[in-house]
Amino acid sequence: RKASNSRLVWGFIKILKFGGSSVGNAERVKNVCDIVRAASKDGRVAVVVSAMQGVTDKLLALDLDFVKEKHLTAAKELKVPAPQDLLDELEKVIKGIKLLGDASPMALDLAASFGERLSSRLVAAYLNKKIPSASVDSRELVKTDNNFQNAAVDFAITNRNIKKFLSKSIIHNSKFLIPVITGFIGSTNSNQTTTLGRGGSDYSAAIFGAALDVDVIEIWTDANGVMTADPRVVSTAFTLPQISYEEAFEMAYFGAKVIHPATMLPAIKREIPILIKNTFNPAHPGTVIAKDSGKEQMTVKNISSVDGISLVNVGGTNLAGVPGTAERGFKAP
Ligand code: ADP
Ligand code: ASP
Ligand code: MG
Repeated sequence: RKASNSRLVWGFIKILKFGGSSVGNAERVKNVCDIVRAASKDGRVAVVVSAMQGVTDKLLALDLDFVKEKHLTAAKELKVPAPQDLLDELEKVIKGIKLLGDASPMALDLAASFGERLSSRLVAAYLNKKIPSASVDSRELVKTDNNFQNAAVDFAITNRNIKKFLSKSIIHNSKFLIPVITGFIGSTNSNQTTTLGRGGSDYSAAIFGAALDVDVIEIWTDANGVMTADPRVVSTAFTLPQISYEEAFEMAYFGAKVIHPATMLPAIKREIPILIKNTFNPAHPGTVIAKDSGKEQMTVKNISSVDGISLVNVGGTNLAGVPGTAERGFKAP
């Protein structure tokens, strides 16, 4: 790949994105920091993080206790300052939503944003003990429409913001600080918090990766790359060493949770390879998602599945030709 102007100017070689299980507790955060430090030996890297495991679900359920306990415990074990200011702010937000008794998509996006804001704070604080780093709130950079809970990114403004910000703010006293960026979240023109849809921090990583024209976007998760099926469901599933952007998109679109389908879109434009790696097994080569499909000749490469779905059969002799039957079926509680 020929390096573009942004790659040459900002010199970022790699984005590393860590999902919820990769930052699930203090021990996991330490492991993440080892991976980041090793990667940073080859050149400038940027980090994107998800919320700690289970946190987004609890935030959407407005459960403060779990979130508080999880981050305070991790901060203590990592020996970094407790993110008390963020937890206090979150408490106010949750109280406000409960008081109004109306959890609008806009209010839920604000509540959900604390997951990534808390985890980026903790990861950056710990990483900074070993190598200069700083947390970055992506709401200042990723601009979206106001379709809360599934907002669309305005790439013209976002790309400009990312390049401008990362050229200045990450240099402190002429030292490069590794940015630890919140995945999943953005904001509207009027600075209301938005999210990019569940699982969207993979997409955030690709947005930053494409803006900086990195050489590779690494998605660190808890599986050995993209496999032929969900390994939690099919014990004989095995890793696909290489698949094309189109194949990855299709698998993800139909339910393979290992990567968010939108991740492929910014990467395709610049032909940036996406590497799926396992934080729990870093030596495993994982999967490369690139322009070309792998060499293996396989008729079927993957079976995707979606959990929590029931099939309802509606039958009867007098359904045919009766108007409104489908509507009544779908409307049934
Ligand atoms: P993260 O928190 O790192 O984003 P996710 O839970 O969102 O991780 O995605 C990883 C999970 O995706 C795996 O633990 C696995 O159960 C599931 N998964 C579903 N389909 C696949 C597949 N084809 N290959 C690998 N993992 C898959
Ligand atoms: N924390 C967000 C979620 O749980 C985003 C992500 O994990 O990618 O959906
Ligand atoms: Mg995910």
